[in-house]
Amino acid sequence: MPLLRNPNAFADYPLDKAGFRRRDSAWLADALAHEASQLALFRKLNPFCNEDGVVWFAGAARDALCGPEANTVFLGVDGDGRPYFAAEMTRDPSDSFIADMGAFEDMRAAAARLSDRETSIVGCARALYEWHGRHSHCSNCGAATFITDGGWRRQCPACKAEHFPKVDPVVIMLPVRGDRCCLGRQARFPRGMFSALAGFVEPGESLEEACAREVKEEVGLDTIDVRYHFTQPWPFPHSLMIGLIAEVADEALTLDQDEIDEAIWLTREEARAAISGGCTMPDGRKVFAPPPFAIAHQLVKAWVGGA
Ligand SMILES: [Zn+2]
Repeated sequence: MPLLRNPNAFADYPLDKAGFRRRDSAWLADALAHEASQLALFRKLNPFCNEDGVVWFAGAARDALCGPEANTVFLGVDGDGRPYFAAEMTRDPSDSFIADMGAFEDMRAAAARLSDRETSIVGCARALYEWHGRHSHCSNCGAATFITDGGWRRQCPACKAEHFPKVDPVVIMLPVRGDRCCLGRQARFPRGMFSALAGFVEPGESLEEACAREVKEEVGLDTIDVRYHFTQPWPFPHSLMIGLIAEVADEALTLDQDEIDEAIWLTREEARAAISGGCTMPDGRKVFAPPPFAIAHQLVKAWVGGA
């Protein structure tokens, strides 16, 4: 068990990533062929699952399922020494023997029902595939690059540049003042859903500055204190969500209509209801927070609990 516990989906990675093995192609080939190896299949960024969870194949089946040239990533080793991989299937699965074994499931839907353990593992694989999908060519010279190191590096054969998978830091924050917190909604959200505010960290910014800037831009509030709470790896496409609680100076909202359709202040009691099915506001509207696999849900829950 990890020493640190994090309530967020995709966090608490359960495997030893064995990073020192990544450059050893012979070791990786042996690990894939290992009789106890575990292989997850991906197609268009979605994992192959059945009603019980992720369907794990033997690594030796990779060539038959996906071909030897398939984009394959090494995900780590579990406590029993079993190596884990993912491979990308590009051909139509309907003519494969796996057709009646399950289906490639939308990752968000899967994350809402898979075990924490499997969510973390396939989330890591998805973040890697998202990054590879956007980095087929060298950002230094433009030449086509290739995957190496078990999926943890791309090599440029022309200028010799090495490219490593990146994460994009995103601040996600709950503005609070006294016993109330502020949630906002974007036009694309389901009707009635309100969430924490969020935005990418820009060059030249500390997390605190990014938080204060986004809060000011989106709802017009002045941040006077920022408290770090926790983070969440978020593989859509490859972000790190940094959960913050932003103490603000007042409650007068000025919305950026391009980003925020509506914002509201909730008491602690209303916020508690919003994360447990929904709360009814004094004007009769129903308001609810995102589901538990979203860090916004966990951030509201933590604040309601006294964070
Ligand atoms: Zn290059």
